[in-house]
Amino acid sequence: MTDKHTSRWKWILGIPSSLLAILGIIDWFIEKDIFVIIWNYIKAIVLSVYTFFTTYYQVQLWFLILLPLIGAGILFIINYYINKKPESGIKEPAASPPAFLKYTEDIFENVLFRWRWGSIKSGTYYIDNIIEFCKECKCKIVDLNCPVC
Ligand SMILES: [Zn+2]
Repeated sequence: MTDKHTSRWKWILGIPSSLLAILGIIDWFIEKDIFVIIWNYIKAIVLSVYTFFTTYYQVQLWFLILLPLIGAGILFIINYYINKKPESGIKEPAASPPAFLKYTEDIFENVLFRWRWGSIKSGTYYIDNIIEFCKECKCKIVDLNCPVC
């Protein structure tokens, strides 16, 4: 077996045995059999679901006919509001990017700085990836000095 398989088996065996150990410790502390408690919860849940689906109800035929129609109507209304597009008269043209996004380099204190604009959500921008360059030869500045000039 490869290391990858070994580590997967460590998890597959480790998590259940750790849970069993933790449950055993809780068991010992509360002096009740926690496995029986959990098993009784599972049985109660299964029984209540079974009872819900197997109980006989008496309804009139009009209700059974109307119910799917009401459900379909509700789905239709939800679908209508989800897919509703803004009115064509109100709809704005596709917003062009702001002009300042073209401002990506400048010289401050004799050093050329270049950067990119980042955006997390539409309409808000931040300066990203600022890099210093020599303003004479456009080389990247290394240790505050130009390696060429
Ligand atoms: Zn230079």
